[in-house]
Amino acid sequence: LIPKKYYSPPIVMSLEVWPKEILKFNAALFKVLQNIKVRHNATVVTLAKGVLKWKKTCQQNVVDDSIQSFLDRFYMSRIGIRMLIAQHLELLEASLRCQNGKSDCYVGTICTKTNITQIAEDAIDNARLICAEHYGLFEAPKVELLCFPKTVTSSNSGIEFMYVPGHLIHMLVETLKNTLRATVEKTIELSPGVDVYDLRFPHVKVIICEGLEDITVKISDEGGGIARSHLPLVWTYLYSTMPDDSQLELIKEESDGNPRVSSFVNRVPLAGYGYGLALSRLYARYFGGDLKLISMEGFGTDVYLHLNRLSTSNEPLQ
Ligand code: ATP
Ligand code: MG
Repeated sequence: LIPKKYYSPPIVMSLEVWPKEILKFNAALFKVLQNIKVRHNATVVTLAKGVLKWKKTCQQNVVDDSIQSFLDRFYMSRIGIRMLIAQHLELLEASLRCQNGKSDCYVGTICTKTNITQIAEDAIDNARLICAEHYGLFEAPKVELLCFPKTVTSSNSGIEFMYVPGHLIHMLVETLKNTLRATVEKTIELSPGVDVYDLRFPHVKVIICEGLEDITVKISDEGGGIARSHLPLVWTYLYSTMPDDSQLELIKEESDGNPRVSSFVNRVPLAGYGYGLALSRLYARYFGGDLKLISMEGFGTDVYLHLNRLSTSNEPLQ
């Protein structure tokens, strides 16, 4: 069996002696790529503000098919381009640093032993913190984490597979934020007049399971679910049931050019752009996975995050 080779060592790492011009060229390319990456850090927010403005100006509630597919293509390309740039920069930087500091399970930004259990624990802590701050709660709803590794031996350290930890934490935090928001708001709705400190929230359940092809994460909440007619909308950009004032706040900030100094300072944003699910699904699909949502209106929602562990998908960048 020929072992799979995922990358070639960057020039500096190999033993060959390269002409000075090539090394100089590479150093210049490194700088250019670094600048491009930093310059485009805020692209998602900038574009979201643009679409938001368009929605307000044209009095549109939902983005139409052409804008939706343009944004899907645009963001998928962005994910791909940034992945490749980050990979190139990381590989070169790591070789210059002689891999100092970072464990040897990293190949650029890809971690060959991404521990999804640990990452899920971090994501849960982050999302709960944001949720508690946003609603001013003493404690956010509890999240139970269950892990089912394929073999018993790997159970001690959780489930490990090859992935980009940054992508994984993004998808998990976004879906968990939605889940916690639905849980809190449903509980508040069911207990009118009760002080937020006295609210009792149903637990959220996260199950991570390792199969032969996929690693699947299921996040189940009792946050009241989503009406069937609204289900297709949750995948569209800028669809959010968060009160409009949080979106208006984003436009205001842009038009006066001042840093945000209003309710947002005190209220950590838990939701508002309507980008969480659409972007997370693109991240999942980028590596051949998927994100699905099944709702029981009146009870709750199950979110399924499928992650392809075979690395069989091709780079979707067009
Ligand atoms: P943000 O971009 O900040 O995440 P958002 O949370 O409103 O804003 P999405 O994460 O894309 O945007 O979610 C879109 C909408 O789908 C939410 O506003 C909410 O109405 C609905 N939704 C998502 N997950 C759930 C859930 N678990 N239970 C109930 N409704 C949900
Ligand atoms: Mg969200």
